[in-house]
Amino acid sequence: MNGPESFTPDLNYILGEAPQLKGFFVGAGFNSMGIASSGGAGMALAEWIIAGEPTFDLWPVDIRRFANFHGNDAWLRDRVAETLGLHYKMPWPQREHESGRPFRRSPLYDRLKARGAWFGNKMGWDRPNWFALGKTPDMPYGWGRGAWFDAVAAEHKATREAVTVADETSFGKFLVQGRDAAKALQLLCTNDIDVPVGRTVYTGLLNQRGTYESDLTLARLGRDKFMVITGSAQVTRDADWITRNVADDAHVTLTDVTGGWTVLSVMGPNSRRLLQKVSKADFSNEAFPFATIREIGIGYATVLASRRTYMGELGWELYVPVEFAVTVFESLHGAGADCGLRDMGYYAIEGLRIEKAYRAWGRELTPDDTPWQAGLGWAVKLDKPGGFIGRQALIDAKAKPLTRRLVSVVLQERAAAVGRRGAVARRQAGRRPHLGCLRPHRRRRGGPWLRAS
Ligand SMILES: Cc1cc2nc3c(=O)[nH]c(=O)nc-3n(C[C@H](O)[C@H](O)[C@H](O)COP(=O)(O)OP(=O)(O)OC[C@H]3O[C@@H](n4cnc5c(N)ncnc54)[C@H](O)[C@@H]3O)c2cc1C
Repeated sequence: MNGPESFTPDLNYILGEAPQLKGFFVGAGFNSMGIASSGGAGMALAEWIIAGEPTFDLWPVDIRRFANFHGNDAWLRDRVAETLGLHYKMPWPQREHESGRPFRRSPLYDRLKARGAWFGNKMGWDRPNWFALGKTPDMPYGWGRGAWFDAVAAEHKATREAVTVADETSFGKFLVQGRDAAKALQLLCTNDIDVPVGRTVYTGLLNQRGTYESDLTLARLGRDKFMVITGSAQVTRDADWITRNVADDAHVTLTDVTGGWTVLSVMGPNSRRLLQKVSKADFSNEAFPFATIREIGIGYATVLASRRTYMGELGWELYVPVEFAVTVFESLHGAGADCGLRDMGYYAIEGLRIEKAYRAWGRELTPDDTPWQAGLGWAVKLDKPGGFIGRQALIDAKAKPLTRRLVSVVLQERAAAVGRRGAVARRQAGRRPHLGCLRPHRRRRGGPWLRAS
């Protein structure tokens, strides 16, 4: 070979069946690692062709991590020039790409920026990672605690003790509709999704091995109409998984409506008081119980409010048509001062959910884990009518002893960073790197915890 190598926008190669063209498999974009990777990549692709799906967790290289808009020539030219150069640069924790940004933007982008947002990038979306109050946002990379630590701690605290608002517009959103929509989704989901209109359900989507293809929430908006809310990065993958597992003759359509809705999460013990100030709707437990969704008014805007939490506090996710996003954001901030309202970014969201042991697909949940191993058996209804994909594998797995289990770890040393990065930080501080011994720590809510010393 004597020519340019093929580089991708994220420096990982591209494997798998193209979601747009059944039977067309791609093994390309090897980023100058194609010789070293060839044995494993070849095996993975061969198994994928034979089984019709990946046989283990290949998410970092899965072709479905990209969407059609990633194929834009101008964007590719700018981004790939950067990824080529990253080969020999330090892989800092929290490193973000600098080129080709901003790419996808929430209608609130400029307002969030003016409020001190430091943006990260996911699936092309520029999203606030944290808010630097009163300072110019700056984040020098390093191995220890970042410059963001105190600001993120304050966002955490405000969510636990007052109220925060986070722009989660990047959530993937599909409308799944049609006479057979409930039946088709029932077959895909581990949980029972045949719920009354106005309810929401958290569920896993499994493959025939009984391991996770996705985890998501769906809202029943009508007898034959569901809104599926999924992770920002999983949109192409989930749309592909759902559509390829719906029978050809079923009366079901899936429409990606991600760009049509802004999502504002209002979370914390004061969320009810704040929303009550900007809306005439009744947010009491009796009128608006957990896992329900309904249309409400906020000022002149009509939005969908979903009572759920990803952070373990009282809260509502507001699904706002993009044309009303600014109105709703201004209403919340206009009324929020005496409720202790703060903005929150994705670092705090991640910390809050991990504290409560809420799992996320692509991080803790992968196509290598079953719901039993993940501790998510409560979202599996083995006896629901018609069963679901992966049910038999789960029954078989249940008959055997559990040999692997997802656990959370509580560090006694507050300044420690876990794993390889932590080891480097300890070595820099002149201390012996170690992960310590783990012993059960059961005082915390939200799942099994281990304490590391
Ligand atoms: C100088 C250099 C040094 C490298 N060093 C390393 C290394 O040390 N370690 C490592 O892991 N990787 C290294 N690489 C990268 C590695 O060689 C590539 O990642 C790997 O070869 C990519 O494999 P591929 O099959 O995806 O593509 P290629 O090897 O490029 O194969 C693509 C093939 O498709 C053919 N083709 C193109 N268009 C058509 C068409 N229209 N019709 C039919 N055929 C077509 C081409 O002729 C070619 O044979 C290096 C690359 C270069 C250039």
